[in-house]
Amino acid sequence: MNKTEQIKKILLNNKIQPSLQRIKIYEFLLGNKTHPTADIIYNNINKELAIISKATVYNTLKLFVEKNIISEITIDNTESRYDYNTKFHGHFKCEKCNTLYDLDLKSDFLNSLNLNGFKINNSHLYIKGICKKCNSN
Ligand SMILES: [Zn+2]
Ligand SMILES: [Zn+2]
Repeated sequence: MNKTEQIKKILLNNKIQPSLQRIKIYEFLLGNKTHPTADIIYNNINKELAIISKATVYNTLKLFVEKNIISEITIDNTESRYDYNTKFHGHFKCEKCNTLYDLDLKSDFLNSLNLNGFKINNSHLYIKGICKKCNSN
């Protein structure tokens, strides 16, 4: 199965009609694991596929988040970034270069918080600061 077929299958498994635009957006997220913004996704796909509109990108990302095949990261309320990785992990945001680093969190991390009796609907864990690279410059 080629990449496009695989993506089609993932979309269909999640009851999403696999239009060309949707396939391209998901493909971009898989190939660019840097937590891109909607604008970055739009600008890159638009280079090769001029038929895509900004509204399509926003609507598609919203649909993907609803269907849980990607996750939305809103560390800053000024921008959302998108993550192909929906498994539980944290993020470190560098306030200088804007890079979002993945933080490995042990799957029992939430259990260690002693939230007995609490119901978790959503969990996002992040740290802000200056990354190693920027800090050494
Ligand atoms: Zn940095
Ligand atoms: Zn991530």
